[in-house]
Amino acid sequence: MVRRRPTVRPAQPAAKTPRIMGNLRRQHPKADAELRFENAFQLLAATILSAQCTDERVNEVAPALFTAYPDAASLAAADEGALEVLIKSTGFYRSKARSRRGMAASVVADHAGTVPQSRDALITLSGVGRKTANVVLGHAMGEPAMPVDRHVLRVANRLGIARGDDPERVEEQLCAVLPRRGWTRASDTLILHGRRVCKPKPLCDRCSVQQECAFIPPSTPPTKRRTRR
Ligand code: SF4
Repeated sequence: MVRRRPTVRPAQPAAKTPRIMGNLRRQHPKADAELRFENAFQLLAATILSAQCTDERVNEVAPALFTAYPDAASLAAADEGALEVLIKSTGFYRSKARSRRGMAASVVADHAGTVPQSRDALITLSGVGRKTANVVLGHAMGEPAMPVDRHVLRVANRLGIARGDDPERVEEQLCAVLPRRGWTRASDTLILHGRRVCKPKPLCDRCSVQQECAFIPPSTPPTKRRTRR
């Protein structure tokens, strides 16, 4: 028997989400991938490195890494110790080195050295989950995709345009109410808003969608709480 997952209703009516996202895009018109890359393989490798690390730090180590291992074949054959030295400053370098070599080895063995172009194939690669696959599809392959990271989870839930802490469920809810062609940019925008404004301690007075936000900071006086609901 197929068990249906319970439906999660966002707090905002679905029709409001495109308008909220439009306002956020105007606040962050340059929202885009912050990792630097020249092809899908580089973005895949950089995204694996960015786990538990800032994009700025990954961008610092990436040039030497891409020079030493320009493609899947060279990375698959890399000496693990030498690879670890290059990526040490990104943290968790041993497991990241293993993941990156494993990813490269399966790209070589199963995809003739070329990064596969479907989500289903991408997530079979070592170290590649749905979020990483969506980053690569959206930014390196021109295929609209909605990467959901901790910033997207936090901002979307506070705004009330999605509900839940399961990235796949939040991805489903956002994709259901936004035009497909805008998915990647919507994710970029929510991520940038989460980094700059809607931080764990949010800067609501700098937020372009404050009047439409479902989040009520715990310190908000009761009178304001009534008007925001
Ligand atoms: S109003 Fe505050 S909580 Fe709501 S999205 Fe803006 S910064 Fe985040």
